[in-house]
Amino acid sequence: MKKMFGVIGDPIAHSMSPAMHNDLFQLHGIDASYLPFHVSNDDLESAVKGLKALGASGFNVTIPHKTEIIPYLDGIDPLAEAIGAVNTVKNEGGLFIGYNTDGPGFVKGLESHAADLLSRSALIIGAGGAARAIYFSMAKAGFKHIDICNRTPNKAEELVNACPYKVDSKVLDYDSAERNLGNYQLLVQTTSIGMHPDIDSVPLSTNNIAQHSFVSDIIYNPLQTKLLKEASVKGASTQNGIEMFVYQGALAFEKWTGIFPDTEKMKANVLRHLGGYTC
Ligand code: NAP
Repeated sequence: MKKMFGVIGDPIAHSMSPAMHNDLFQLHGIDASYLPFHVSNDDLESAVKGLKALGASGFNVTIPHKTEIIPYLDGIDPLAEAIGAVNTVKNEGGLFIGYNTDGPGFVKGLESHAADLLSRSALIIGAGGAARAIYFSMAKAGFKHIDICNRTPNKAEELVNACPYKVDSKVLDYDSAERNLGNYQLLVQTTSIGMHPDIDSVPLSTNNIAQHSFVSDIIYNPLQTKLLKEASVKGASTQNGIEMFVYQGALAFEKWTGIFPDTEKMKANVLRHLGGYTC
C-alpha cells in the first residue's frame, strides 16, 4: 500500500519539503506520497489524531507547531526533548515519536564542508528557536567553545543555562561580538536579519573577522545574504541555509526509510525548484 508522509504548518504553501521528499521517494523507487497540510493552532491536536487514524508513516512539523505538538506525541527522543522542538515525526508501530533533525542537520551540513570545523571556536549570532537547536546539537557533537550574541542577552543566557551538553560558552552583546570577532573561526548567523525583504541588513559588522574563518548563514532567501557577501569579500568561506534545510530533510528521510540520500542531488533539486534564486 502507498505510504503517506507530509508536513504540517501555518503557512505551508511556500514549503519546499513536498518537492524535496517526493523527488527522493521517486529516486529510490519508494511507493509513497508527501503532502503539505495547512494546520492552524486550533486544529493541531485533531490534525495529529487524523494523521494517526489515516496511518501516516511520518511527517515533518514546521512553524508554528514545533513546540506545541509535543504533548500530542507518544514519545520524544532526548535531543528533541532538550531542545523543546520537534520537526520530524515517525510512526513506530502505531506510536508517533518526535525527533529534531534541524540541529543535527545543521551540524552534518557543516561537517560536509570541513572535518576540522568541530575544533573551531564558534560564535552563534541569535538565540531564537533555530539557534537553540543548533547550539544544543553543536554542543552534543563535541564543539568545545561556542559563544552566543543576541539582541536580548537574557534569551542567550537562558539557552546556555538550559543546554544539557558540556560546552564552554559566554554571552556577548553585539558591540563586544563585533570587537572580538577575530577570536572566532566559525560564525553561525541564525537571526532573521538579512532575510528577504530586509536584504540590505547585516546583524553585525565583519570588519574584525578572522582570516580563513567560516561563516554559515541559515537564511536561504536570498541565497547569499549581505553578511555572506561581506564575509566572502574578506576572504572567509561561506555556506547558506540551503545546506541546513537539505540535511534536516536527509536525516528525516533516513529516519523514515533507513536510507541516507544523496545530499548533492537534493541541493540541486531544491535549487531547481527555487529556480536558482529565492526572492
Ligand atoms: P525566532 O525564534 O523568532 O528567533 C529570531 C532571532 O532573530 C532571535 O535571536 C531575535 O533576537 C533575532 N532578531 C530578529 N529580528 C531582529 C532584529 N531586528 N535585530 C536583532 N535581532 C533580531 O526565529 P527562528 O525560528 O530561530 O528563525 C530564525 C531564522 O532562521 C529565520 O530567518 C528562518 O527562516 C531561518 N531558519 C532557517 C532554517 C533552515 O533550514 N535553513 C531552519 C529554521 C530557521 P531577540 O531574541 O532579541 O528577539
